[in-house]
Amino acid sequence: MRIPRLALMAGALATVLFAGTAHAATSAPAYKPVLAKSPIYKTGKLGLGTCEEPKVQSGSLDEVRSYLDVVLDCLNAAWEPKVKKAGFAFAKPALQVIDKPGAATGCGKYPADAQAIYCSLNKKITFLVSPNVVEEPGDLILMAVLAHEYGHHIQQLTGMFKARTTYNGKNAARVLDETRRLELQAECLSGVFMGNVWHSLNRRQGEFDYLVKHGGTGFDLSVIGVKVENWGEKTHGSAANIGRWLKRGFDTESAGGCNTWKAPKSQVS
Ligand SMILES: [Zn+2]
Repeated sequence: MRIPRLALMAGALATVLFAGTAHAATSAPAYKPVLAKSPIYKTGKLGLGTCEEPKVQSGSLDEVRSYLDVVLDCLNAAWEPKVKKAGFAFAKPALQVIDKPGAATGCGKYPADAQAIYCSLNKKITFLVSPNVVEEPGDLILMAVLAHEYGHHIQQLTGMFKARTTYNGKNAARVLDETRRLELQAECLSGVFMGNVWHSLNRRQGEFDYLVKHGGTGFDLSVIGVKVENWGEKTHGSAANIGRWLKRGFDTESAGGCNTWKAPKSQVS
């Protein structure tokens, strides 16, 4: 059994910077309609059904890039009709695949401790082919992470990214709450895609279950613009909740299953 690498990575980074946050309310506070009542929730199940996933054997940069290109095509084909149905303009994200941190992303230099990031400013996903990817090149995590970043792209296209509360130095609890809801939603949207094409992937159910059990994609550092290091679980939620939302998306195959803005605090902690 392989080690849940991303979970380990997450654990190492989960430095708690904001201790003592109040836990009084259990229901969700009110969020802007663009977040909590987005028309994307009413667009129904994805209609793709099939994604011809190539095999990844060596984990080389070129091979991983070819793999991600194919899966990205599947993601575009799956989500474009839904974004349009919801009344938003669709654009494909750019994809950059790198093998060491430091590359320009459009949102600053690629950080040392992320598997992938989405930059909303230039709609670009940057994916790091790190040693753990090379070690287990056929791992489902490649698809899961790309589909998670694509979830952030959906959030960008539907105006959610912009709707976030800006960090002003004093409202960390609110910003962290919203950040977790965004991250868990992206994880759920990853599950929506994987659930929709799952039968075409020729993978064992155990591979997906393993991912759910070990906290999904762990976390990335997609939340650019809030300059605080090492937010770890505070920004992405607990491993149990990440797995919960990943599975919810997988089971519903619909963005409608991913309204984290209506979820009680216990599900987005
Ligand atoms: Zn993310």
